[in-house]
Amino acid sequence: MSKPVLVVGGGPAGLAAAHGLASIGQSVVLVEKEDRLGGAPILSGYAKLIPSGEWAKDAIGAMVARTAEHELIECRLTSQVDAFSGEAGQFQARLSDGATIDAGAAILATGFSHFDSLNKPEWGFGTYDDVVTTVQVEQMISSGSGVRCPSDGRKPERVAILLCVGSRDRQIGREWCSKVCCTVSANLAMEIREELLDCNVYIYYMDIRTYGLYEDLYYWKSQEEFRVKYIKARIAEVTSDGERLIVKGEDTLVKRPITIPFDMVVHAIGMDPNIDNMKLGAIFDVALESHGHIARGSAYSAPATTSRAGLFVAGAACGPETIDDSISQGQAAAMAALAVVKQNQRGAA
Ligand SMILES: Cc1cc2nc3c(=O)[nH]c(=O)nc-3n(C[C@H](O)[C@H](O)[C@H](O)COP(=O)(O)OP(=O)(O)OC[C@H]3O[C@@H](n4cnc5c(N)ncnc54)[C@H](O)[C@@H]3O)c2cc1C
Ligand code: SF4
Repeated sequence: MSKPVLVVGGGPAGLAAAHGLASIGQSVVLVEKEDRLGGAPILSGYAKLIPSGEWAKDAIGAMVARTAEHELIECRLTSQVDAFSGEAGQFQARLSDGATIDAGAAILATGFSHFDSLNKPEWGFGTYDDVVTTVQVEQMISSGSGVRCPSDGRKPERVAILLCVGSRDRQIGREWCSKVCCTVSANLAMEIREELLDCNVYIYYMDIRTYGLYEDLYYWKSQEEFRVKYIKARIAEVTSDGERLIVKGEDTLVKRPITIPFDMVVHAIGMDPNIDNMKLGAIFDVALESHGHIARGSAYSAPATTSRAGLFVAGAACGPETIDDSISQGQAAAMAALAVVKQNQRGAA
């Protein structure tokens, strides 16, 4: 009987890794620090996913169900790894409840943290109730409550979505592009227009990165079919005149100052490195890259590797990722981990 593979993190990447391994007969211990599996799409209550249009609770919920039910996967919820020692083929992990697990290989699928908009105070979050984040709008839609102004519950007539909040911003130490937020925002803008036919939705952008096949499906469709308006702008501040929120900035196409009133302002927040990464780096003795994500080894010949042999990584743990790419990386990490377990088994025989 081979040793299990330890998978840390039960989001899309970890679920894909765990299920992939179990489906070919390899046992897994899946350690998740929260009390539920599913990662950000479930824990943060996302609505309809891009690009499939499926509800997160259905699409990721199905991944959770097949993982939780699998006889070869032992799920350890509200649990973390406190200590990790040994070498490829023969690791020992001590969990926060004191249990010790022998593992042949391990996969870090510990994901990301949402940018905290309080770090961008000039754009009004934390000061005005009706300045919210894309995660809050996702929750308004997925809970069925509808998109409403938190201050008084009214239906907004004018909504501004500000892109790149906590991404591509060197002043606050976040140089990276978070990859999904242009497309997620265009999708949310269409959902708002679908629910509130009289609501005008504006997207403030530096550049639009609805990359690959998303250009037609989201960027053009949101303008042509849903009349979402795009403004290329540099935003100075979000204030209030006592009745409405005021977005001030410069229209960078015509090079003129613009001041526009809104009922609701939405921050398209970026994907930060997991706040646990310093701790994870020390516990797993694994290198982080310059921004604080878990550093990948080789990009091509051994894609899921880290700086430590036998320890693999997948998904948003190594930088902003989409769900489908996180799933693919989880499966690649599963394959790499299985190779280590099998090699060790052959060596022991
Ligand atoms: C607002 C917003 C909307 C988005 N919408 C979409 C979309 O529609 N489509 C799309 O493709 N992508 C979307 N994304 C991106 C999507 O969230 C990520 O691609 C996906 O969550 C990455 O999966 P993951 O498993 O790598 O990480 P996560 O989803 O972050 O999962 C990581 C898991 O690890 C657990 N964990 C963390 N640290 C530890 C630890 N120390 N010990 C144990 N467990 C730990 C966490 O609790 C979590 O369950 C969106 C992102 C944002 C910000
Ligand atoms: S995906 Fe779009 S909104 Fe997100 S950081 Fe990149 S450019 Fe900005």
